[in-house]
Amino acid sequence: MSSTLLKNFIHGRYVDNADKSGFDVLSPATGEVIYAVETADEALLEQTVQSAQQGFITWSGTPAIERARILQRAANLLRERNDELARIEVLDTGKPWQEAAVVDVQTGADAIEYFANLCPSMMGEQQSVGDDFFYTRHEPLGVCFGIGAWNYPLQIACWKAAVALAAGNSMIFKPSEETPRGAALLAEIFIEAGVPEGVFNVVQGDGKVGQYLVQHAAIAKVSLTGEVGTGKKVMAAAAGTLKKVTMELGGKSPLIVFDDADIDEAVTGAMLGNFYTQGEVCTNGTRVFVHESCYDTFMARLIKRTKDNVIVGNPLDPKTNLGALISHKHLQKVLSYIQIGIDEGATLAFGGQQLKPEGCENGNFVSPTIFTNCTDDMRITREEIFGPVMSVLKFSSEDEVIKRANNTDFGLAAGIFCQDIRRAHRVIAQLQAGICWINAYGNSPVEMPVGGYKQSGIGRENGVEAFKSYTQTKSIYVGMNKLEGPF
Ligand code: NAP
Repeated sequence: MSSTLLKNFIHGRYVDNADKSGFDVLSPATGEVIYAVETADEALLEQTVQSAQQGFITWSGTPAIERARILQRAANLLRERNDELARIEVLDTGKPWQEAAVVDVQTGADAIEYFANLCPSMMGEQQSVGDDFFYTRHEPLGVCFGIGAWNYPLQIACWKAAVALAAGNSMIFKPSEETPRGAALLAEIFIEAGVPEGVFNVVQGDGKVGQYLVQHAAIAKVSLTGEVGTGKKVMAAAAGTLKKVTMELGGKSPLIVFDDADIDEAVTGAMLGNFYTQGEVCTNGTRVFVHESCYDTFMARLIKRTKDNVIVGNPLDPKTNLGALISHKHLQKVLSYIQIGIDEGATLAFGGQQLKPEGCENGNFVSPTIFTNCTDDMRITREEIFGPVMSVLKFSSEDEVIKRANNTDFGLAAGIFCQDIRRAHRVIAQLQAGICWINAYGNSPVEMPVGGYKQSGIGRENGVEAFKSYTQTKSIYVGMNKLEGPF
């Protein structure tokens, strides 16, 4: 890959577009142009589809055990190149090096390894029906299309590709315009590992490029990670050809701290669920409900630890634990929500300012921000901000907090901190969310299916459930006796 111009990756190589149209990628930390990208024009998109159709024929005919061996090599290559890839994720996303170095590449490799190991064991069923019998085959869908968000570019590409490829599909992937490199590097690694040409292609561009492929008759399934509004558009466009869809969308998740919680752990959970990746995490627990009897203790420790321990700075500095927001536009959006919170009458208990760390004066930095005296109807407690902005709300009873936690159209995640195990399981069972944590927040091992309730999504990524969603079941009935009929 050229360090200054990134092209579309089709059929095992980078290819030129005809009109040289493209866009620049800016560093979130410095605001400077870091490289340029060529957009996929219509001719390239058609070339990509044809390549993926060819790739599908080769790959779906490759025995599962061989697919597993090749994918395992890709997982190993990712791990070997951890630091090089993590550095690119830091430069593209603005997230801290200390996170990317241990999470982004590793969790991507985990997904590829997990699904590689799973695919040879995914068996059909056989059942006798009288003298006859039937059996089932789990067959791949064909060419799948993955669309990524910008917060975990390489990990999202790995999660979508791992399951699609393990099940025998080919995949075309469109990363976000903000962070196009991670997926392209994954495509290079797949080729190096022995994945045949055309099995994983990467096209570059904005929503229009995405929409072209979502509507394309040759695509069997679309998997999107993005905002709820984008999910609605993509699903509507996919309906024209009745494509299968997986939607991993946004949230406004509740995190509930009961009076018997270990308060230090609950503070850790709230900080992880609001400040990790500078708040740009879909599952963030941005509505922190704290029981009135432990509220003062919780708030005192939360403010102290935020003040003492959060280090905002150059994302490449190993000490930094809160990096830069993805773009200037997104910074303005987060700052405008902070102003909305103030105007709505919430109390700004900490932060709320744009920051200009030394050496990164033109970057998109905002301080970790905590609002108290929030109410359920404020926009800051109802809308996804996708930045390090926490809203703290007080509650008095279990029934009340369950009702308030569920009072949202989102349903991605939820967390509770408490010691009473009966209450923990009783409350979790009543929360309308697809990903729940008890005395933890944010962990997402590949073995665990993840996805949203309500408007936060459709389908699941990871786990055995995801594998099934990339296959279709064929039932084959076998007659063992002479066939008779009324005609
Ligand atoms: P976004 O604006 O919805 O974009 C997501 C992707 O969709 C981008 O690649 C975008 O392209 C593309 N896109 C936009 N319009 C499209 C259309 N009409 N047809 C096809 N593709 C289209 O989301 P984002 O700002 O990148 O990411 C943040 C959002 O993702 C948040 O809401 C967050 O909660 C959510 N998210 C969810 C999960 C999860 O697992 N549930 C994980 C991470 C993030 P361009 O941006 O290049 O135009």
